Amino acid sequence: EYKGMSKEQLLAIRRKNCNPMTMKITYYKKPVFIHQGYMQWMWDMDGRRYLDLFAGVATVGVGHCHPKVTAAVVKQMKKLWHTTNIYVQPALHEYCEKLASHLPDPLKVVYLTNSGSEANDLAMLMARLHTGNFDIITFRGSYHGGSMQTMGLTSNSPYKYPIATSSGCVNAMCPDVFRGPWGGSHCRDSPVQTIRECSCAQGYCMANEKYIGDLKETFATSLPSRIAGFFGEPIQGMGGAVQYPKNYFKEAYKLVRERGGVCIADEVQTGFGRTGTHFWGFQGYDVIPDMVTMAKGIGNGFPMGAVVTTPEIAESFVKAYHFNTFGGNPMACAVGSSVLDVIKEDGTQQNSLKVGTYLMTEMAKLRDKYEIIGDVRGKGLQIGVEMVKDKASRTPLPPAAMSGIFEDIKDMGVLIGKGGVYGQTFRVQPPMCITKEDVDFFLAVFEKAIHNYMATK
Ligand code: PMP
Repeated sequence: EYKGMSKEQLLAIRRKNCNPMTMKITYYKKPVFIHQGYMQWMWDMDGRRYLDLFAGVATVGVGHCHPKVTAAVVKQMKKLWHTTNIYVQPALHEYCEKLASHLPDPLKVVYLTNSGSEANDLAMLMARLHTGNFDIITFRGSYHGGSMQTMGLTSNSPYKYPIATSSGCVNAMCPDVFRGPWGGSHCRDSPVQTIRECSCAQGYCMANEKYIGDLKETFATSLPSRIAGFFGEPIQGMGGAVQYPKNYFKEAYKLVRERGGVCIADEVQTGFGRTGTHFWGFQGYDVIPDMVTMAKGIGNGFPMGAVVTTPEIAESFVKAYHFNTFGGNPMACAVGSSVLDVIKEDGTQQNSLKVGTYLMTEMAKLRDKYEIIGDVRGKGLQIGVEMVKDKASRTPLPPAAMSGIFEDIKDMGVLIGKGGVYGQTFRVQPPMCITKEDVDFFLAVFEKAIHNYMATK
């Protein structure tokens, strides 16, 4: 019960008074009524505990209700709730400097927003104003937001409406070395390799050349000679933890810059240490973007987002007022600042690398054992497990089968996510505080769910 209301009553309210689409997004046939969270755990209304390996799409980076982050926001809440954009609020300055210190030169100017869509909207605007060009390129399968503007960047059919969203957005082929036509075992930077045969010679990646070839063709056929920018998630999130050939970003950034465009890394899911080897996903590709957008993990569940860019680009953005009432509000700054402290103090990035590598290595053993586990990939705790009918065809496992396994995993006490253009990929993006024991529990649950599914066939 919640305030005297039963689950049935709550669902009836949800159907009548809440965005009806959210009924679909709750994913489960029998929805989970979440009541409380602590670190990697959540409890439902009946007091049942779940191991949360999705943490709301990686929003909760350092753990649900992390005591230090909670203490920081409560302390601030007792002092001031307001905009920081009219007066000088010391916490904003402290936070912007701290956040900027986590980015390489020349990325030093911070704009704070309330969400990822807002951050990407702002980045689009800045890219267009700075370059004087209009067109923007993204990958198929990408997700960059659900606002009118960012829906144009997003290339994931269930999230698109048949209306005029932002014009001037063009999608290139996603350099997906498992599902795409080219690539294989050694193309990407992951502790586990794909099982797919790879025709790349030592030191030379044929797949990279092919996908870069598609990008060039997109420039030649679908875009004017000068463009505004390129948005790329270092590892696709909603697209299903898709990783690209190692040199793709480097070459793509060069081609974009040659056409007058700026490069934007969407770190909404991959930032803040999640990929383990680096604090930011783009660092794994050895590139420096012109803008970095972030959200979710930046606030450990508190609504926040940011764009960090260069002084030069910021200079192009001073001709009119840019006002965002709550972007960088005192609570957000207190949360953001303590999240950065906790990442360091708790060693969450290092844990991400250690536990994530263990998870992927063990999951790859299950992949080799079961025909329907097609691919295991990712870095740190940004992990995808792509399900197929069989390894030879790589046909996506149908939605009904995916949902059955997914529900079964939940019923055994573990929450994971789903993604991929065909809904064929399980996503594991837990709070970065999970342990090896949690992983062992998940692997046992996952294998049991595979067995249960096979028994029904
Ligand atoms: N970019 C990426 C990579 C995302 O995954 C998301 C959200 N799923 C967004 C942007 C949009 O963020 P928000 O929902 O906070 O607007």
